[in-house]
Amino acid sequence: MSRRDLILQELGLVRWVPRAVAEETAVATPEPPASEASATGARQTQAVPAGTGRSALIAGMDWMALKEAVRTCTACALHRGRTQAVFGVGDERADWLLVGEGPGAEEDARGEPFVGQAGRLLDNMLSAIGLKRGHDVYIANVVKCRPPGNRVPEPGEAGECEPFLLRQIALIQPRLIVALGKTAAASLLRTDASVGSLRGRLHAFQGVPLLVTYHPAYLLRNMPDKAKAWEDLCMAREHMGRLKSGQALPAA
Ligand code: URA
Repeated sequence: MSRRDLILQELGLVRWVPRAVAEETAVATPEPPASEASATGARQTQAVPAGTGRSALIAGMDWMALKEAVRTCTACALHRGRTQAVFGVGDERADWLLVGEGPGAEEDARGEPFVGQAGRLLDNMLSAIGLKRGHDVYIANVVKCRPPGNRVPEPGEAGECEPFLLRQIALIQPRLIVALGKTAAASLLRTDASVGSLRGRLHAFQGVPLLVTYHPAYLLRNMPDKAKAWEDLCMAREHMGRLKSGQALPAA
């Protein structure tokens, strides 16, 4: 089977025998942790104090200070349950920024976003549009510490973590942001709307074009919506083509 057929099969878009769910949800083979997630450089930085000025302080950080601030953050209760904070991974000048919800068990153990079952699907989705983790793509989450039992982060937890994501976006300066799932869309677009109602059209986050699609973990449980995610990714790829060639995007 060709590489493309394999990818389409992984996305559940082939007409013949869809891959068995059990196989699709198999746990990815562990890889060494991304050096980036733990390479925080010199460790003399103090934890960022809570309260007034915290956001402004974070907004002025470079990558090294930001990684250290995330690593040592105790701003919300999530830090108590973490093995390690999961900063983000990828090309720090990427055109593509993908934003998920928060680390799960495998991400917490390995220090890299999307390395579990959902991550395997995400990698295949990226591959289907010619992208590869770490190559012109950066992957981050709304919250950097694992919510217990993989529950949805609470608004206060997302709020405390927001300055970190904002600084990541400011440093990366992506051409396009893809919000993976409702938590990312809610956080970036300040909306309670469903993914179904937000997908399929352009939004913007502080002037950066933003598309919303389903979270890979949701897609693992809802096979039929993979076709819609595929449409979303094709739309994202088209928009990126326009952005790179300096063409205007359709009105949001
Ligand atoms: N789900 C997310 O939203 N992020 C991860 O890093 C892993 C699973």
